[in-house]
Amino acid sequence: ATPTAVMVATGIGAAQGILIKGGHALESAHKVTCVVFDKTGTLTVGEPVVVGTKLLSSMTLPEFYSIVAAAEVNSEHPLARAVCNYAKTLADETETVVNGLSETRDFRAIPGLGVVAIVLGKKVLVGNLKLMMETGVVVPQAAVEQLRDFEQMARTGIIAAIDEEVAGIIAISDPLKPKAGTVISILKTMGICSIMITGDNLGTANAIAKEAGIERVIAEAQPQVKAEKVKELQMSGMTVAMVGDGINDSPALVAADVGMAIGAGTDIAIEAADVVLMKNNLEDVITAIDLSRRTFFRIK
Ligand code: ADP
Ligand code: MG
Repeated sequence: ATPTAVMVATGIGAAQGILIKGGHALESAHKVTCVVFDKTGTLTVGEPVVVGTKLLSSMTLPEFYSIVAAAEVNSEHPLARAVCNYAKTLADETETVVNGLSETRDFRAIPGLGVVAIVLGKKVLVGNLKLMMETGVVVPQAAVEQLRDFEQMARTGIIAAIDEEVAGIIAISDPLKPKAGTVISILKTMGICSIMITGDNLGTANAIAKEAGIERVIAEAQPQVKAEKVKELQMSGMTVAMVGDGINDSPALVAADVGMAIGAGTDIAIEAADVVLMKNNLEDVITAIDLSRRTFFRIK
Protein backbone atom coordinates (compact mmCIF):
# COMPACT_ATOMS: atom_id res chain seq x y z
CA ALA A 1 0.00 0.00 0.00
CA THR A 2 1.11 3.56 -0.63
CA PRO A 3 1.86 5.87 2.30
CA THR A 4 -1.26 7.80 1.31
CA ALA A 5 -3.43 4.69 1.49
CA VAL A 6 -2.05 3.95 4.96
CA MET A 7 -2.72 7.50 6.05
CA VAL A 8 -6.27 7.37 4.74
CA ALA A 9 -6.95 4.05 6.47
CA THR A 10 -5.50 5.30 9.75
CA GLY A 11 -7.79 8.32 9.45
CA ILE A 12 -10.84 6.16 8.77
CA GLY A 13 -9.95 4.06 11.82
CA ALA A 14 -9.52 7.12 14.04
CA ALA A 15 -12.89 8.49 12.96
CA GLN A 16 -14.43 5.24 14.22
CA GLY A 17 -12.56 5.26 17.50
CA ILE A 18 -9.91 2.80 16.39
CA LEU A 19 -6.48 4.29 17.04
CA ILE A 20 -3.80 2.57 14.99
CA LYS A 21 -0.31 3.47 16.13
CA GLY A 22 1.54 3.62 12.84
CA GLY A 23 1.72 1.92 9.47
CA HIS A 24 3.38 -1.22 10.78
CA ALA A 25 0.48 -2.01 13.10
CA LEU A 26 -1.98 -1.45 10.27
CA GLU A 27 0.02 -3.73 7.97
CA SER A 28 0.38 -6.57 10.51
CA ALA A 29 -3.37 -6.70 11.13
CA HIS A 30 -4.18 -8.07 7.67
CA LYS A 31 -1.96 -11.11 8.25
CA VAL A 32 -3.62 -12.13 11.51
CA THR A 33 -4.55 -15.83 11.62
CA CYS A 34 -5.50 -16.09 15.27
CA VAL A 35 -6.92 -13.74 17.90
CA VAL A 36 -6.14 -14.34 21.56
CA PHE A 37 -8.74 -12.79 23.86
CA ASP A 38 -8.25 -12.06 27.54
CA LYS A 39 -11.36 -13.14 29.45
CA THR A 40 -12.08 -10.71 32.29
CA GLY A 41 -13.07 -7.28 31.03
CA THR A 42 -12.39 -8.17 27.40
CA LEU A 43 -14.80 -10.99 26.55
CA THR A 44 -16.80 -10.41 29.72
CA VAL A 45 -18.47 -7.22 30.87
CA GLY A 46 -15.80 -6.84 33.54
CA GLU A 47 -18.09 -5.81 36.35
CA PRO A 48 -18.27 -8.99 38.40
CA VAL A 49 -20.97 -9.39 41.05
CA VAL A 50 -21.35 -11.76 43.98
CA VAL A 51 -24.19 -14.17 43.21
CA GLY A 52 -23.83 -16.75 45.94
CA THR A 53 -22.08 -17.71 49.16
CA LYS A 54 -21.48 -21.02 50.87
CA LEU A 55 -20.62 -20.50 54.52
CA LEU A 56 -18.43 -23.19 56.04
CA SER A 57 -18.16 -21.80 59.55
CA SER A 58 -20.52 -20.72 62.32
CA MET A 59 -20.29 -17.08 61.21
CA THR A 60 -23.34 -15.19 59.94
CA LEU A 61 -23.29 -13.85 56.39
CA PRO A 62 -22.73 -10.20 57.51
CA GLU A 63 -19.94 -11.27 59.88
CA PHE A 64 -18.25 -13.27 57.15
CA TYR A 65 -18.43 -10.43 54.62
CA SER A 66 -17.30 -7.76 57.06
CA ILE A 67 -14.05 -9.68 57.52
CA VAL A 68 -13.59 -10.69 53.89
CA ALA A 69 -14.30 -7.17 52.64
CA ALA A 70 -11.83 -5.70 55.12
CA ALA A 71 -9.16 -7.94 53.58
CA GLU A 72 -10.18 -7.04 50.00
CA VAL A 73 -10.78 -3.31 50.43
CA ASN A 74 -7.24 -2.36 49.44
CA SER A 75 -7.18 -4.54 46.36
CA GLU A 76 -7.83 -3.02 42.93
CA HIS A 77 -8.88 -6.36 41.45
CA PRO A 78 -12.41 -6.44 39.95
CA LEU A 79 -13.19 -9.51 42.09
CA ALA A 80 -12.27 -7.55 45.21
CA ARG A 81 -14.61 -4.75 44.14
CA ALA A 82 -17.41 -7.29 43.73
CA VAL A 83 -16.83 -8.61 47.25
CA CYS A 84 -16.71 -5.13 48.80
CA ASN A 85 -19.83 -3.94 46.95
CA TYR A 86 -21.74 -6.97 48.13
CA ALA A 87 -20.51 -6.56 51.71
CA LYS A 88 -21.67 -2.97 51.63
CA THR A 89 -25.23 -3.81 50.52
CA LEU A 90 -25.32 -6.48 53.20
CA ALA A 91 -24.13 -4.04 55.84
CA ASP A 92 -26.72 -1.50 54.73
CA GLU A 93 -29.46 -4.11 54.97
CA THR A 94 -28.52 -5.48 58.35
CA GLU A 95 -27.25 -2.15 59.67
CA THR A 96 -24.08 -3.79 60.85
CA VAL A 97 -20.91 -1.83 60.31
CA VAL A 98 -18.27 -3.25 58.04
CA ASN A 99 -15.02 -3.23 59.97
CA GLY A 100 -13.10 -0.11 59.18
CA LEU A 101 -9.76 0.08 57.46
CA SER A 102 -8.07 0.65 60.78
CA GLU A 103 -8.76 -2.99 61.63
CA THR A 104 -6.79 -4.20 58.62
CA ARG A 105 -3.03 -4.40 58.48
CA ASP A 106 -0.28 -6.14 56.51
CA PHE A 107 -2.37 -6.20 53.33
CA ARG A 108 -0.70 -7.88 50.39
CA ALA A 109 -2.03 -8.65 46.90
CA ILE A 110 -0.62 -11.78 45.30
CA PRO A 111 -1.11 -11.47 41.51
CA GLY A 112 -3.05 -14.34 40.00
CA LEU A 113 -3.79 -15.83 43.43
CA GLY A 114 -5.61 -13.40 45.73
CA VAL A 115 -4.97 -11.31 48.81
CA VAL A 116 -3.74 -11.73 52.36
CA ALA A 117 -4.26 -9.38 55.32
CA ILE A 118 -4.57 -9.32 59.08
CA VAL A 119 -8.12 -8.33 60.05
CA LEU A 120 -8.97 -7.84 63.73
CA GLY A 121 -5.85 -9.80 64.55
CA LYS A 122 -6.88 -12.73 62.38
CA LYS A 123 -4.99 -13.87 59.29
CA VAL A 124 -7.37 -13.66 56.35
CA LEU A 125 -6.70 -15.18 52.92
CA VAL A 126 -9.06 -14.56 49.99
CA GLY A 127 -8.36 -16.10 46.62
CA ASN A 128 -8.27 -19.28 44.58
CA LEU A 129 -7.42 -22.89 45.41
CA LYS A 130 -3.82 -22.31 44.42
CA LEU A 131 -3.50 -19.58 47.06
CA MET A 132 -4.78 -21.98 49.70
CA MET A 133 -2.42 -24.73 48.56
CA GLU A 134 0.59 -22.44 48.51
CA THR A 135 -0.15 -21.14 52.00
CA GLY A 136 -0.86 -24.57 53.45
CA VAL A 137 -4.57 -24.07 54.16
CA VAL A 138 -6.35 -27.43 54.14
CA VAL A 139 -9.43 -27.17 51.91
CA PRO A 140 -12.11 -29.70 52.88
CA GLN A 141 -13.62 -31.90 50.18
CA ALA A 142 -17.02 -30.23 50.57
CA ALA A 143 -15.43 -26.87 49.78
CA VAL A 144 -13.66 -28.23 46.70
CA GLU A 145 -16.94 -29.69 45.46
CA GLN A 146 -18.77 -26.41 46.05
CA LEU A 147 -16.05 -24.64 44.13
CA ARG A 148 -16.41 -27.04 41.17
CA ASP A 149 -20.21 -26.56 41.20
CA PHE A 150 -19.82 -22.80 40.98
CA GLU A 151 -17.28 -23.17 38.16
CA GLN A 152 -19.60 -25.43 36.13
CA MET A 153 -22.08 -22.56 36.23
CA ALA A 154 -19.44 -20.21 34.75
CA ARG A 155 -18.92 -18.52 38.13
CA THR A 156 -15.53 -17.73 39.60
CA GLY A 157 -15.29 -19.40 43.00
CA ILE A 158 -13.26 -17.59 45.63
CA ILE A 159 -12.21 -19.16 48.93
CA ALA A 160 -11.95 -17.17 52.15
CA ALA A 161 -9.85 -18.63 54.95
CA ILE A 162 -9.65 -17.14 58.43
CA ASP A 163 -6.80 -18.26 60.67
CA GLU A 164 -5.95 -21.15 58.33
CA GLU A 165 -9.55 -22.45 58.24
CA VAL A 166 -11.83 -22.23 55.21
CA ALA A 167 -14.71 -19.99 56.32
CA GLY A 168 -16.67 -19.79 53.10
CA ILE A 169 -16.82 -19.89 49.30
CA ILE A 170 -18.01 -16.95 47.23
CA ALA A 171 -19.51 -17.30 43.75
CA ILE A 172 -18.85 -14.36 41.46
CA SER A 173 -20.45 -13.86 38.07
CA ASP A 174 -19.06 -11.78 35.23
CA PRO A 175 -21.23 -12.40 32.17
CA LEU A 176 -20.07 -12.43 28.56
CA LYS A 177 -20.44 -9.24 26.56
CA PRO A 178 -23.59 -9.60 24.44
CA LYS A 179 -21.68 -9.40 21.13
CA ALA A 180 -18.88 -11.81 22.06
CA GLY A 181 -20.41 -14.85 20.35
CA THR A 182 -21.11 -12.95 17.13
CA VAL A 183 -17.57 -11.60 16.97
CA ILE A 184 -16.08 -15.07 17.40
CA SER A 185 -18.26 -16.53 14.64
CA ILE A 186 -17.50 -13.69 12.22
CA LEU A 187 -13.77 -14.16 12.83
CA LYS A 188 -14.24 -17.82 11.97
CA THR A 189 -15.82 -16.92 8.62
CA MET A 190 -12.78 -14.70 8.02
CA GLY A 191 -10.56 -17.74 8.55
CA ILE A 192 -9.30 -16.50 11.91
CA CYS A 193 -9.31 -18.72 15.00
CA SER A 194 -10.05 -17.45 18.51
CA ILE A 195 -8.38 -18.46 21.76
CA MET A 196 -9.28 -17.40 25.31
CA ILE A 197 -6.52 -16.72 27.83
CA THR A 198 -7.12 -16.01 31.49
CA GLY A 199 -5.73 -16.09 34.99
CA ASP A 200 -9.01 -17.60 36.13
CA ASN A 201 -9.42 -21.35 36.72
CA LEU A 202 -10.01 -23.84 33.89
CA GLY A 203 -13.55 -24.83 34.92
CA THR A 204 -14.93 -21.30 34.83
CA ALA A 205 -12.89 -20.41 31.74
CA ASN A 206 -14.20 -23.46 29.83
CA ALA A 207 -17.80 -22.69 30.74
CA ILE A 208 -17.49 -19.10 29.50
CA ALA A 209 -15.55 -20.09 26.37
CA LYS A 210 -18.31 -22.52 25.47
CA GLU A 211 -20.89 -19.74 25.70
CA ALA A 212 -18.76 -17.60 23.38
CA GLY A 213 -18.10 -20.42 20.92
CA ILE A 214 -14.37 -20.48 21.62
CA GLU A 215 -12.83 -23.93 21.36
CA ARG A 216 -9.37 -23.27 22.71
CA VAL A 217 -8.75 -22.12 26.29
CA ILE A 218 -5.58 -21.30 28.18
CA ALA A 219 -6.40 -20.89 31.88
CA GLU A 220 -4.54 -20.13 35.11
CA ALA A 221 -2.08 -18.06 33.11
CA GLN A 222 -0.12 -15.41 35.00
CA PRO A 223 0.87 -12.27 33.03
CA GLN A 224 4.26 -13.62 31.91
CA VAL A 225 2.67 -16.91 30.87
CA LYS A 226 0.16 -15.02 28.72
CA ALA A 227 3.10 -13.54 26.79
CA GLU A 228 4.83 -16.92 26.52
CA LYS A 229 1.67 -18.51 25.10
CA VAL A 230 1.46 -15.78 22.47
CA LYS A 231 5.08 -16.50 21.49
CA GLU A 232 4.37 -20.24 21.29
CA LEU A 233 1.51 -19.58 18.87
CA GLN A 234 3.82 -17.41 16.76
CA MET A 235 6.45 -20.18 16.76
CA SER A 236 3.81 -22.55 15.42
CA GLY A 237 3.43 -20.23 12.43
CA MET A 238 0.49 -18.06 13.42
CA THR A 239 0.23 -14.30 13.18
CA VAL A 240 -1.29 -13.36 16.50
CA ALA A 241 -3.50 -10.50 17.59
CA MET A 242 -3.90 -10.17 21.36
CA VAL A 243 -6.92 -8.32 22.74
CA GLY A 244 -6.78 -7.29 26.40
CA ASP A 245 -7.62 -4.62 28.92
CA GLY A 246 -5.53 -5.16 32.03
CA ILE A 247 -2.03 -4.56 33.36
CA ASN A 248 -1.77 -8.35 33.41
CA ASP A 249 -2.23 -8.37 29.62
CA SER A 250 0.52 -5.89 28.76
CA PRO A 251 3.39 -8.39 28.30
CA ALA A 252 1.16 -10.38 25.91
CA LEU A 253 0.06 -7.20 24.09
CA VAL A 254 3.72 -6.39 23.49
CA ALA A 255 4.57 -9.95 22.41
CA ALA A 256 1.72 -10.20 19.90
CA ASP A 257 2.07 -9.21 16.23
CA VAL A 258 -0.83 -6.85 16.87
CA GLY A 259 -1.69 -5.87 20.45
CA MET A 260 -5.18 -4.43 20.77
CA ALA A 261 -6.21 -2.67 23.97
CA ILE A 262 -9.89 -2.46 24.64
CA GLY A 263 -10.71 1.17 25.43
CA ALA A 264 -11.95 0.99 29.00
CA GLY A 265 -8.68 -0.72 29.90
CA THR A 266 -5.83 0.45 32.06
CA ASP A 267 -3.34 3.06 30.83
CA ILE A 268 -0.59 0.47 30.90
CA ALA A 269 -2.49 -1.80 28.50
CA ILE A 270 -3.28 1.15 26.23
CA GLU A 271 0.40 2.08 26.16
CA ALA A 272 1.52 -1.50 25.41
CA ALA A 273 -0.90 -1.90 22.50
CA ASP A 274 -0.48 -1.20 18.77
CA VAL A 275 -4.17 -0.56 18.32
CA VAL A 276 -6.57 1.01 20.83
CA LEU A 277 -10.27 0.25 20.54
CA MET A 278 -11.57 3.45 22.12
CA LYS A 279 -15.25 2.54 22.09
CA ASN A 280 -14.78 -0.64 24.11
CA ASN A 281 -16.58 -2.56 21.34
CA LEU A 282 -15.41 -6.10 20.61
CA GLU A 283 -16.69 -5.76 17.02
CA ASP A 284 -13.94 -3.23 16.44
CA VAL A 285 -11.44 -6.10 16.45
CA ILE A 286 -13.09 -7.14 13.17
CA THR A 287 -13.30 -3.56 11.89
CA ALA A 288 -9.56 -3.08 12.49
CA ILE A 289 -8.57 -6.29 10.70
CA ASP A 290 -10.99 -5.51 7.90
CA LEU A 291 -9.57 -2.02 7.45
CA SER A 292 -6.09 -3.49 7.18
CA ARG A 293 -7.22 -6.14 4.71
CA ARG A 294 -8.88 -3.55 2.52
CA THR A 295 -5.75 -1.39 2.57
CA PHE A 296 -3.15 -4.11 2.01
CA PHE A 297 -4.96 -6.60 -0.21
CA ARG A 298 -5.96 -3.98 -2.79
CA ILE A 299 -2.59 -2.43 -3.70
CA LYS A 300 0.49 -4.55 -3.12
P1 ADP B 1 -7.68 -12.50 34.69
O1 ADP B 1 -6.66 -12.97 33.70
O2 ADP B 1 -8.97 -13.24 34.50
O3 ADP B 1 -7.88 -11.00 34.64
P2 ADP B 1 -6.09 -12.48 37.25
O4 ADP B 1 -4.74 -12.96 36.83
O5 ADP B 1 -6.21 -11.05 37.59
O6 ADP B 1 -7.22 -12.95 36.19
O7 ADP B 1 -6.56 -13.33 38.53
C1 ADP B 1 -6.55 -14.73 38.47
C2 ADP B 1 -7.24 -15.34 39.66
O8 ADP B 1 -6.59 -14.99 40.88
C3 ADP B 1 -8.68 -14.91 39.84
O9 ADP B 1 -9.57 -15.63 39.03
C4 ADP B 1 -8.88 -15.21 41.32
O10 ADP B 1 -9.14 -16.57 41.52
C5 ADP B 1 -7.53 -14.87 41.93
N1 ADP B 1 -7.49 -13.50 42.46
C6 ADP B 1 -6.68 -12.50 42.04
N2 ADP B 1 -6.88 -11.39 42.77
C7 ADP B 1 -7.86 -11.66 43.66
C8 ADP B 1 -8.52 -10.91 44.70
N3 ADP B 1 -8.23 -9.63 44.97
N4 ADP B 1 -9.48 -11.53 45.41
C9 ADP B 1 -9.80 -12.81 45.15
N5 ADP B 1 -9.21 -13.57 44.21
C10 ADP B 1 -8.25 -13.02 43.47
MG1 MG C 1 -8.76 -8.54 31.89
